[in-house]
Amino acid sequence: MNNAVYTIPVVFHIIHLGEPVGVSSNISNAQILQALNDLNSDFRDNPMLGNDVEIEFCLAQRDPEGNSQFDGNNNNITGIQRVNGTGTGNYESLGMTLGVSSNEIALKALSNWPNTDYLNVWVVHNIAGSVLGFATFPVADDSVDGIVLEIGATGISGFSKVFSHEAGHFLNLYHTFQGSTSYNICPSNVDCHVHGDMVCDTRPHPYQNEPMNWFPCNESDYLNCYMSVYTNNVVENHMN
Ligand SMILES: [Zn+2]
Repeated sequence: MNNAVYTIPVVFHIIHLGEPVGVSSNISNAQILQALNDLNSDFRDNPMLGNDVEIEFCLAQRDPEGNSQFDGNNNNITGIQRVNGTGTGNYESLGMTLGVSSNEIALKALSNWPNTDYLNVWVVHNIAGSVLGFATFPVADDSVDGIVLEIGATGISGFSKVFSHEAGHFLNLYHTFQGSTSYNICPSNVDCHVHGDMVCDTRPHPYQNEPMNWFPCNESDYLNCYMSVYTNNVVENHMN
């Protein structure tokens, strides 16, 4: 804890299919605000772990030109941008494809604010790939830099961890199982600064382990998992 809280302005780009606001892929402002609220809950006040990352996310209050937009109740909704993706990169049938492609670049270009000032979050009706969200690491070029979420993982109860996980990647965090190549193979762990997730207080573990098929890399983790509470193991880590 150093009690310095960083606040990152977020702009959501809702890439819809032409529906009115609040219908199907053109999700409501309330759903967006719920997603942002859930994200802040994970970063500032995790009841399971008592953690505080000291990073907050706020809805952008000004656009790149310094202007603001308000809804009928005088709420500042500048950080919620809406654009029709129909006709771009086969968006109707594909959604956004996972992995940098012409489809992704074209869709993100429909609405994209400078990554030096904003976290861009594109909300799409579908991601072509078996994920609910994906993100770039900070080194990415600004034509793609940011987070992509499916509408079903945006402000929907039970799916809030997708946004938290992707925000971790956006902030340069790897998976806790980084370097593992199989269910029962531990990643290298000689130097915690370069192996695993490169964060020294994360214990190494194989990918996709769950409480029921826990394969520990350290004896003490095994004991912790089966004979005590889960508080110190990776099961509760959003980057698992
Ligand atoms: Zn991930």
